[in-house]
Amino acid sequence: MNLKHLTDQQLIAATDVAAKVEVSAMTHLLHHLAEIQRRRLFSVYAVNSLFEYCVKRLKMSEPAASRRVNAVFVLMDVPEIGAKLQSGELSLSNVSQAQTFFNQEARMAEALTSPEKARILKSIENKGARRAKEILVASSSIRVELPKEGMQPISAEFHHLTAVIDEETKAGLERLQEIWSHSGSQRGFGAMLKKMTELCLSQVDPLKKSKQVSRSAKNSEKSASRVSETEVEIQSESATRVETETTTQSVVLDQLPTPTSESARSRHIPARVRHAVQVRDGGSCAYIDGCGDRCSSRTFVQFHHLIPFACSGEHTVENIELRCFSHNQRHAIDDYGTGVLSRGELRP
Ligand SMILES: [Zn+2]
Repeated sequence: MNLKHLTDQQLIAATDVAAKVEVSAMTHLLHHLAEIQRRRLFSVYAVNSLFEYCVKRLKMSEPAASRRVNAVFVLMDVPEIGAKLQSGELSLSNVSQAQTFFNQEARMAEALTSPEKARILKSIENKGARRAKEILVASSSIRVELPKEGMQPISAEFHHLTAVIDEETKAGLERLQEIWSHSGSQRGFGAMLKKMTELCLSQVDPLKKSKQVSRSAKNSEKSASRVSETEVEIQSESATRVETETTTQSVVLDQLPTPTSESARSRHIPARVRHAVQVRDGGSCAYIDGCGDRCSSRTFVQFHHLIPFACSGEHTVENIELRCFSHNQRHAIDDYGTGVLSRGELRP
């Protein structure tokens, strides 16, 4: 584009117009993203959040997606900011900062109501980013400015983690340092976190537990002839315990109303089926979208019946796959309509 022929006055006027068009297009986009979020329509694709949808589908950079998604959540909660964004009274970066602040308040103190949010947003209208941040910090009931949590890569092997912990956690970490120092373990926080992660995953990761159970099942088959009755009892007790723990990853679709004729059937997925599904799907969401891309999210993974339980779907390895929360929710919306979103039954 060659603009050299424009006079200074024309260039200024044309730039004013271009800036207005940009703000208008951005507000237009936010309204559309809000509707996509309301319908959870992003989960049609192999992404598990609006943020991932913006990055992977709409090709936004992560910071750009983060600002827009933040603004979308503010827009959904305080719809009147749409006009303020359009007029330029509120900037995208200030609204995004405000949402980060609202999240922090909800996490560390108490969630703000929509009128409280509207009042705070009003106070950062027509302010620069730095001044807006000062106003937000001053509005905080926490009274301290918490550093942003996050993890940044610093080399091919290492990452720098920033986290905010409370007094109780600090005391716990110091106690662990004492305990592990006796066993000759390294005392650095990174080394401690590695050890804690390994210990914790061996307890709560369904995939690791599945492998342990599969291994113990194989071992028990081999030595079956030598196993005494008492040992069999101990093993079955431990298998029952694993089943109970894994059941806390409830199958959301199974919580939805089903015909009374189904009530006689057990909703309990046998442990061996759950374990086989976990191992086959690698502990991650097996949803594949229309483009053939697999989601593979590992957060809030749940069991999903391909033929719904309510339609006589069986608890078999062939009929069950893993789904992340968003894709389990997608199936629920497809089967039962968006009404399920307001009934509060679909939660991670
Ligand atoms: Zn998924």
